[in-house]
Amino acid sequence: MIDSDLGWSLIFGPVPSRRLGRSLGIDLFPYKMCSFDCIYCECGPTKCLTVDQFSEPSPEIVLSRFKEFISVFPSSFDVITFSGRGEPTLYRPIGDLIEMLKKDFPSYPVAVLTNGSLLINPSVRKSILKADIVSPSLDAPEESLFKEINRPHPSIEWRNVLEGLIAFRKEYKGNYRLEVLLLKGINDTPYHLLRFSELARRIEPDIIDLTTLARPGTLSSLRELSVDELEGCVDFFPHIPCYVVGDYVKRGSGLLGKAPSERVLEDRIIRLLARRPCSLEDLADSLGIYIDDAYAAIEHIKNHYPLRSREIGGKVYYFLVSSLS
Ligand code: SF4
Repeated sequence: MIDSDLGWSLIFGPVPSRRLGRSLGIDLFPYKMCSFDCIYCECGPTKCLTVDQFSEPSPEIVLSRFKEFISVFPSSFDVITFSGRGEPTLYRPIGDLIEMLKKDFPSYPVAVLTNGSLLINPSVRKSILKADIVSPSLDAPEESLFKEINRPHPSIEWRNVLEGLIAFRKEYKGNYRLEVLLLKGINDTPYHLLRFSELARRIEPDIIDLTTLARPGTLSSLRELSVDELEGCVDFFPHIPCYVVGDYVKRGSGLLGKAPSERVLEDRIIRLLARRPCSLEDLADSLGIYIDDAYAAIEHIKNHYPLRSREIGGKVYYFLVSSLS
């Protein structure tokens, strides 16, 4: 295995999140497991499409892995984020884990990136109330597009997702950031944007993050909007603070403190690429290394792993073949 021998398979990063800064990720999934199978997902096709919650590993084990990771890599990061290869609210004890993290790492905000599909369930809503930031996504302003973009588990209906998002707002006192991901020619017409705007007024998030495809998605035919096009969409949301999510650039901070060994560096790069496609700049940002070193590591990894690259928005992204179709 890539990392089990080093004992930190549940933790990855920090990755440069375009919205949250430098994000240390908690990935509770051994493989892609989600209630959606989004066409734009950076993690590739969903292997297990489910709405069944699970409880393993225990919050105590995840916390101990987290501490182990920090002790091996005293990384600098801005936020602890539940993300990775699946929908975090499928993890039933997520509330307990959030509480433990906040107790032991009080200076770091905890963020949950969720597709919102389970928020119709009151116990799921309750479980993430203590997170500092919750960012549900809303990619479709109507049922038919929801099926086309998110390809949900058959038991999930768009109107219930919407109800869950509205109900959560009434209960949640933290930073509610609604993410709207726009795909060129699919959900970015004036009609769609007006519908999104109406829905946002009903949901009442603190912030709307307007974003687009930044890395290769599951379907290779998808196209992103330009920053100018995204900026143009902001006018549709006059009632709620709305931001265009641009590139997060902050590099060369020496996160590892000292040059990591070749094996450790390659191991960390492989772990990142198993979760999401990354450019050389992403790798350099995440690991605090020079781009040349990232390049050298990638060239070496290519000889041992099924690594591919794809260009999007003028940038080359690397990914492991098993993570994308
Ligand atoms: S983008 Fe998120 S919600 Fe969609 S399939 Fe991937 S992990 Fe699941």
